[in-house]
Amino acid sequence: MGIKLYTHVGAYIKATMNTEEYPETKTIGCSSGHGTVPKPHERIDYCPTCGEKLEKSTTVKHRHMSYYDLFKTDEEEKWLDILQWVGGESDDNEHVLLIGNMGTEKFPDCIDLDDDDDEEEVEITPEMATVYVKNFKRTYADIINFITSRVKALEIKFGVVTYYT
Ligand SMILES: [Zn+2]
Repeated sequence: MGIKLYTHVGAYIKATMNTEEYPETKTIGCSSGHGTVPKPHERIDYCPTCGEKLEKSTTVKHRHMSYYDLFKTDEEEKWLDILQWVGGESDDNEHVLLIGNMGTEKFPDCIDLDDDDDEEEVEITPEMATVYVKNFKRTYADIINFITSRVKALEIKFGVVTYYT
């Protein structure tokens, strides 16, 4: 969580993330039952008290992938900065929210609110949701296709997203 709260009014992506498996290893202890094994448990193979090999158990856990997990290292340069990841960055989130990061004046996809704290009036007309979503799909067609193939589901919505950065 950052220091400033921003409000995005416009088109955004709500992606439902796949889960991935990861191993979680726990140290059970030595056969002499010396209870206290210093952290991190998983990095210690022998009991610090008696030197006996420690018994361990590994279980397979599941977690949702993050936005960054969608890209291989050599793909990040091309794709990573096109959209801005604005939601679901903490803990284990099923959904990731993404907004545009390339700002187009000709084909707007969000309302340009000033970053200062001045009072402001911006009318939202009934057509804007449709037009802004259409513009968003047009501007970000390539990355939308790319991401869609790697997530469980992807929706393009119009609404308000608040986020810290
Ligand atoms: Zn021991």
